[in-house]
Amino acid sequence: MSEAASTLLYLAAAALFIVGLKRLSSPVTARSGNLMGAVGMLIAIVVTLLRSGIVDYTLIVAGLLVGGTAGTILARRVAMTGIPQLVAAFNGFGGAASGMVAAAEFLADGSSTPETAVTITLSCALGIATFTGSFVAFGKLQGLIPGRPLLFKGQMVFDSVLAAAVVGSGIWMAASGHRSALWLLIALSALLGVTRTLPIGGADMPVIVAFLNSMSGLAAASTGFVIGSEALIISGALVGASGLVLTAIMSRAMNRSLANVLFAAFGGDDESQPEGIGGGPVRRATIDDAAVTLAYARSVIVVPGYGLAVSQAQYGARDLTDRLAGRGVKVRYAIHPVAGRMPGHMNVLLAEADVPYEQLLDRDEINDDFPRTDVALVVGANDVVNPAARDDASSPIYGMPILDVDRAGAVIVIKRSLSPGFAGIDNPLFYRDTTLMLFSDAKAALESLAGAVQTA
Ligand code: NAP
Repeated sequence: MSEAASTLLYLAAAALFIVGLKRLSSPVTARSGNLMGAVGMLIAIVVTLLRSGIVDYTLIVAGLLVGGTAGTILARRVAMTGIPQLVAAFNGFGGAASGMVAAAEFLADGSSTPETAVTITLSCALGIATFTGSFVAFGKLQGLIPGRPLLFKGQMVFDSVLAAAVVGSGIWMAASGHRSALWLLIALSALLGVTRTLPIGGADMPVIVAFLNSMSGLAAASTGFVIGSEALIISGALVGASGLVLTAIMSRAMNRSLANVLFAAFGGDDESQPEGIGGGPVRRATIDDAAVTLAYARSVIVVPGYGLAVSQAQYGARDLTDRLAGRGVKVRYAIHPVAGRMPGHMNVLLAEADVPYEQLLDRDEINDDFPRTDVALVVGANDVVNPAARDDASSPIYGMPILDVDRAGAVIVIKRSLSPGFAGIDNPLFYRDTTLMLFSDAKAALESLAGAVQTA
């Protein structure tokens, strides 16, 4: 393949990545955006292979078959609630691949120029730390490793020394071209990935997964410089930048800085939970009470949360809101940016159940409407509707932007008990006079409600 043709095709692949990423920003265009990115990657891979001069494709085909089969099975089988783990594993493999390509380049040629030495060091350090960090995140999300922050005394000092040693071994490798320096760099980076991820609470793992995603992108971009691949530089830079933007969005939506997520060991201190979780009188509702309240409302805002995802209640939600709309009730969904356990969790689930996109509104678009709304129906959400985040300066989530459901005429909360959510704190919303608690699994409750509003 000629140089000009491959440059043009790489350019086309880069354009597909960028337009694809842009299209991921709305549920309406996300599927086609994903497809465009995949086509761009296919073009980049085919052009790279054609340019490589490889004669024997046996190993490559074997790799494609093994990786393709594993990827297809995993992607088809994983439940929506398991996507953060899957993404963590993908990031880990991406980081390891970048680090290994750079290491192979070093072992083959040594680091001839200072630039190559720097990029090889960066690829190995970022790639391998991303690999081990991602698998710790995977273990925490999957429940294989305790979710609480795991720290030891003097951890910050240890990690700082370790980080300095990583840089030192990189400098040694660049200066001497010694192979032992490479192995040391890899070992220290692997350890740093583990010791930096273990102290972060399981609850913060989605933010860390986004952060590690960004790191894997930077490692890939750096490897692109090592092997002179423009396509890898561009795609790595896009992953690095978008991962960082996502990390910033999630941190902001929880009103926390990235440094706080990385270093504060949030969610680890069980004793910090307030006494009396589950205490205080609440107004219990039956299915019929809730159905009548909903059926005779003029406007209803549904607020989905993590509980809706775990119970797979999206179809029940769609059925209920269709029936309410059929009765002339104005129905919308309020989507908080960190509702659920990963960005876009609620949008994806509700889109899967064919909830019309125009009914899905972001927090900023709908929050001012709660005072003019008859009923807010909270389904398996907790922290994102906790008024303490707005009103109680002593609350651990004070300052986290919330959906102001307590300002609606009435609130119906569907959850199984008074247990706390992700942040582990009580929610004063449950004890208000205007709140009805419908204790049930979300899916069962929504299905029963859909039947009951029909006859109300
Ligand atoms: P949440 O605060 O974690 O609360 C979820 C609630 O769902 C729980 O209180 C639980 O109560 C209920 N639940 C669980 N299973 C249920 C079932 N089968 N049926 C009905 N209810 C069920 O959830 P959220 O309001 O969506 O808030 C998300 C939290 O995750 C926030 O604190 C956010 O900061 C954090 N987070 C999110 C992201 C992200 O990207 N989305 C990233 C990092 C952190 P019961 O056990 O009583 O049923």
